[in-house]
Amino acid sequence: MSNELLRWPVHVEVRLKSRASARFDTIRKFVQTFVISHDRLGIPSVLEGWQDVPELSASVEHINICESSCTKQSLSREEMILHVHVYQPSDGESFEEFSTGSGNGGEDEDTMAASVCELPNRGWEGLWNSLIYAGDIKLKLLDYIHATLLLSDANVDFNLVSWNRVVLLHGPPGTGKTSLCRALAQKLSIRLSHRYSHARLLEINSHSLFSKWFSESGKLVQRLFNSINELIEEEDSFVIVLIDEVESLTAARAGAMAGTEPSDGLRVVNALLTQLDKLKHRKNVLIMSTSNLVNAIDSAFVDRADIVQFVDLPTREAIYEILRTCLCEVISKGVVAPVKIPALKQAQMYEVVAKAGDEDACKTEDPHEKQKYLALRILKLAAQCRSQKMSGRALRRLPVLALARYLGMGSTTPSPDTVTDELATGAADIDI
Ligand code: ADP
Repeated sequence: MSNELLRWPVHVEVRLKSRASARFDTIRKFVQTFVISHDRLGIPSVLEGWQDVPELSASVEHINICESSCTKQSLSREEMILHVHVYQPSDGESFEEFSTGSGNGGEDEDTMAASVCELPNRGWEGLWNSLIYAGDIKLKLLDYIHATLLLSDANVDFNLVSWNRVVLLHGPPGTGKTSLCRALAQKLSIRLSHRYSHARLLEINSHSLFSKWFSESGKLVQRLFNSINELIEEEDSFVIVLIDEVESLTAARAGAMAGTEPSDGLRVVNALLTQLDKLKHRKNVLIMSTSNLVNAIDSAFVDRADIVQFVDLPTREAIYEILRTCLCEVISKGVVAPVKIPALKQAQMYEVVAKAGDEDACKTEDPHEKQKYLALRILKLAAQCRSQKMSGRALRRLPVLALARYLGMGSTTPSPDTVTDELATGAADIDI
């Protein structure tokens, strides 16, 4: 067996302050030097200590060491191939509506079929890390993009190897599909900033494409894609198109064929498919789509998707992490009394050695026992939420309801274990 050391690509994302005017390549060099001054780095982790380097503290806001396909929790300097990405997000308000109007003052002039936002955007910061899945969905999507870039760069003959640049995420509502598309768009704009100086996310409002002037819809799709084509004309600009609830656009064809839908639906789907086929030859575009009802989508659309990914309701383990991150946030903002909440791996170790009833043990002041007690309580709660088939969306609002219940009792800063008790009661009450 070869003794050669395996090396893993490690992506380091460096966010600059809004008003920082430092040159990106200067900051990149300082970060590179700072990172390799460490013997080992946690994967993933938030880098600390750069605040003592004056050139960095003047301009940098946050340094994130991203997750990697490597299964180790930390890597030594020698095991890493560093990729440092420096970015300065646009402000949250840089959204603009996108009209499909004909420009000749016609009656459909005001049809707002899409919104565009500049990427990376401050509004989507932290979204990627906040999404928790049991499998490796997030890395799988990043690897797919990487593969398409490699093939495009190698000028692979499209007649022999071809792909459509279309991804479809489907699954129950509230499982983070739309958020994952936005988070991926943000991630790509950061990771691809060395190739594209601009990135934009264009979100299509599927419903508004069905014009009030019914027979116009096919033309609206056409016009919308003309505008998308204008955006991708700029070759140093990467465009991610998000078509949310795509079934509302594409279900129509089956209905039209069965004679239950007006032929307008057919025109919309045909226009969409034709336009998608044209986009597949463009290197700087990615189409992301979501659906709650995969069976309702036109099979010709599903067939065009390179990845059809099912996004399921969270598992007990993912629920633990979602609840833990909720609690950590309210603790860090001083709303709930401070205590360290163990990460999932630690909680599972407590579970292995726990005795029956440990999670119901009376509350203790011993910090270690307290952590164990909390971890077991949250694991038990996670199992309860799982059995009730709660979505990520329902879970993230659970702490609000728990806190409201607690405050209703006339109290002030609650402790995490009382919040956990309230979460459990809240979860039991929730009607899903
Ligand atoms: P969908 O498009 O599947 O209906 P959304 O993207 O609208 O779901 O999800 C709404 C919110 O629910 C997200 O912004 C996030 O706060 C939360 N959420 C959903 N799924 C997850 C998850 N797997 N991990 C963490 N948060 C989640």
